[in-house]
Amino acid sequence: MPIFARDTLHALIRAVCTAGGSAEREADLVADQLVEANLTGHDSHGVGLLPMYVQSLAKGALVPNRHAELVHDQAAVLVVEGQRGYGQVIGHEAMELGTARAHEHGIAVLAIRNSFHLGRIGHWAEQCAARGFASIHFVNGIDHPPIHAPFGSAEARLSTNPFCAALPGRDGPMVVLDMATSKIAVGKARVAANRGVPAPEGSLLDADGRPTRNAAVMFQEPKGALVAMGEHKGSGLAIICELMAGALTGGWTTRPEHPMAGGIVNNMLSVVIDPDALGGRERLWHEGGALISYLKSARPLAGVAEVLVPGEPEQRRRRQRLAEGIEVDERSWADILAAARTAGVPAAEVEALIA
Ligand code: NAD
Repeated sequence: MPIFARDTLHALIRAVCTAGGSAEREADLVADQLVEANLTGHDSHGVGLLPMYVQSLAKGALVPNRHAELVHDQAAVLVVEGQRGYGQVIGHEAMELGTARAHEHGIAVLAIRNSFHLGRIGHWAEQCAARGFASIHFVNGIDHPPIHAPFGSAEARLSTNPFCAALPGRDGPMVVLDMATSKIAVGKARVAANRGVPAPEGSLLDADGRPTRNAAVMFQEPKGALVAMGEHKGSGLAIICELMAGALTGGWTTRPEHPMAGGIVNNMLSVVIDPDALGGRERLWHEGGALISYLKSARPLAGVAEVLVPGEPEQRRRRQRLAEGIEVDERSWADILAAARTAGVPAAEVEALIA
């Protein structure tokens, strides 16, 4: 597999976004988030999304140079309209608003409606944590047919509806739990299909509702479905995400009555909390830090090297990939280069960027 330095992929993403009409800052924000996803090991949410973004631009499902428009502002409650803009811009601007409001009131409840793909949701929790805030995020995904089967069903009715929560530590986030509510994110099925490797046991149903490990079932007609993580509990959390993000915010749910442009639109309900409005950040760092040490002191199971807390695998992967580079599978790389051509980046520029 080809291996690239962080800065190479960053420059390529910037070039594709700029060719697609984005202003410099937008191109930077998109590149920052996609490359961070690759660095943290989530290739499903990294540079491999460029082909989907370029196709969505062409269809008008994704609109460049849109900003987070504040449509309701009531003390600690903010509602932002994303207008199908890049989620990397809408998410970033919305978190800036949310953290400023949480600084003022101790808490902010922030609804984002109609943003294009918000990518790796941990990125937004990390932005809050970097400013000293804890945060909780419920997300749903619309604009495309459902892909995730609710518990007990043989066919899809939901999207992968991520849930994320994080707490700020003294130096960087204390923990970041960031997960799809399906057993695997659909992007991971795409990576498995591209690499020709089986998907994890129990993560997929074929079009007839039978368990399968063949990730191709998600990309052919009739389509299969992703299975919820944690059986009825994960499925329940996915439904809560759907309702919190897609109904409580005033956004849309996956119901087929709603128009679909064939992209990925996310709605997100975020709660941003200032630790100093509760027990205080010093107390959080003391008690939380001690708890994490206690958790990590537990005797590991046979075959497990070390007990980790949420967010640790990503931090480790980030250190490793910054030092050793980011592998991109051949199939994804070919699709990324084709997307760069479609977006209008001259071949000589691509060659120079990746040389
Ligand atoms: P995952 O299964 O790799 O990790 C889920 C969580 O478990 C992470 O917080 C991770 O730190 C933690 N974890 C992993 N291994 C661990 C271990 N050994 N010990 C302790 N904790 C551990 O993540 P996923 O469910 O595949 O999600 C991948 C990404 O996809 C996320 O960033 C999510 O936000 C994103 N996503 C986005 C959308 C969207 O519509 N924007 C939809 C679905 C998923």
